[in-house]
Amino acid sequence: MEFGAILVDKTDTGQSVGLKTLKDSDLMEGDVLVRVTHSTVNYKDGLAITGKSPVVRRFPMIPGIDFAGIVEQSSHPDWQPDDAVILNGWGVGETHFGGFSGYARVKGDWLVGLPKSLTLSQSMAIGTAGYTAMLAVMALEKRGLTPAQGPAVVTGAAGGVGSVAIALLAKLGWRVIASTGRLEESEYLRDLGASEIIDRKELSEKGRPLGKERWIAGVDSVGSHTLANLLAMTKYGGAIAACGLAQGMDLPASVAPFILRGVSLLGIDSVMAPKKRRVEAWGRLASDLDLTKLATITKTIGLDEVIEAGKSILDGKIRGRLVVSMV
Ligand code: NDP
Repeated sequence: MEFGAILVDKTDTGQSVGLKTLKDSDLMEGDVLVRVTHSTVNYKDGLAITGKSPVVRRFPMIPGIDFAGIVEQSSHPDWQPDDAVILNGWGVGETHFGGFSGYARVKGDWLVGLPKSLTLSQSMAIGTAGYTAMLAVMALEKRGLTPAQGPAVVTGAAGGVGSVAIALLAKLGWRVIASTGRLEESEYLRDLGASEIIDRKELSEKGRPLGKERWIAGVDSVGSHTLANLLAMTKYGGAIAACGLAQGMDLPASVAPFILRGVSLLGIDSVMAPKKRRVEAWGRLASDLDLTKLATITKTIGLDEVIEAGKSILDGKIRGRLVVSMV
């Protein structure tokens, strides 16, 4: 059986990337073979495709940190042929062949069943970005925060994590303040449910240890000074869920918000999250995300467009979510 796949390999000068034809015998070990119907382009996939950060840790590699598809063969007790499944993370697209491929052979333990109310395509419109946004919202809820206590801020608002976070929080009754560098996308952000749009410049420069209290909760996909400022402007007892580093990996913050306002910083990792939390997150996405809004943030591309898209996402040029359709 032959199929197309994006392959990244090492060269003398860096790395090469191209669309190749592979056979199932080229795939890595695993107890479930999945016919991939959809994948997505996430920020991390952009890093893998361009080699801008050492995301790929084994060469050659098929990038693509997530996919959805139909089980073709399985020796895992949980999965039978024709089951619809989703995969996010677990090092797929980094150390194990990933989703930009017609087929993927993976560990059955890494898979989650597709919720009944979602299609395979919708699950990848959500993708790792949306599933991470849900993990962030769940962490804020677990901290006991509610919309009655004040607004929630979302940074990187027009990106994948940001767009889904806005839609989720708005549906759950939060007043959402969206921070974006693309003010021309204000209408898009308001349609998703944002009540107020702020220019990301307000947050991206070095700020004071404590600022005016503006929000009780936040989802940050940006890091660096932005995250430091978010913490400095969080109301007493609030929390910020940090999941990304689009501005930078540094955190030039002070302890003032923690020790004077009891603010919490909640770390969000989607890659190694335990299966129970994944199943809960996907169940919540199936019930709490407005699918009409999901459609408005999604664009579908083919496997042959993935390499260009990987470059664009790092330039901050992709709005919302990009689904890669193999069908
Ligand atoms: P996107 O590229 O879709 O979104 C990132 C957004 O961040 C951009 O759209 C832009 O939003 C904003 N941004 C970009 N550059 C800068 C900058 N220099 N300063 C401030 N803001 C900037 O990526 P994703 O939504 O897929 O991922 C977002 C982040 O979350 C990434 O860092 C990614 O690695 C991380 N991530 C982490 C996961 C985890 O498990 N912890 C899982 C998934 C993602 P705007 O134009 O609106 O300003």
